[in-house]
Amino acid sequence: MDCIFCKIVAGEIPSTTVYEDELVYAFRDINPMAPTHILVIPKEHLGSVNDITPYNSAVVAHIFEVIPQIAAAENLTGGYRVVSNCGQDAGQTVHHLHFHILGGKELSLQMA
Ligand code: AMP
Ligand code: ZN
Repeated sequence: MDCIFCKIVAGEIPSTTVYEDELVYAFRDINPMAPTHILVIPKEHLGSVNDITPYNSAVVAHIFEVIPQIAAAENLTGGYRVVSNCGQDAGQTVHHLHFHILGGKELSLQMA
């Protein structure tokens, strides 16, 4: 499959690793929108939030267990935002499920 994030998981495209385990990979966003901007993805290819089902949602739960560990390791003591863009209206550009961790400054409250 021609998926850039699957290629990152496979090591075919370079990335800056932040965290990795058997289910999850986290790396720095190439175009950071905040001082800390990390993407957390399942190693398994899921297209978006719309592809989460009872059969695969354990990996999403695991991602949300890992996110606070990453935030702590990145010293995001003031807080952070977790975002997942789903589909065209949200501006999703990479069609492999990913959660943005944004922090390191006081974030704008603008959401739309
Ligand atoms: P989204 O717009 O929510 O689909 O987010 C996709 C994100 O992936 C954007 O923030 C991009 O900057 C980021 N991105 C795209 N290609 C790469 C890459 N090769 N390495 C790291 N981040 C990437
Ligand atoms: Zn993929």
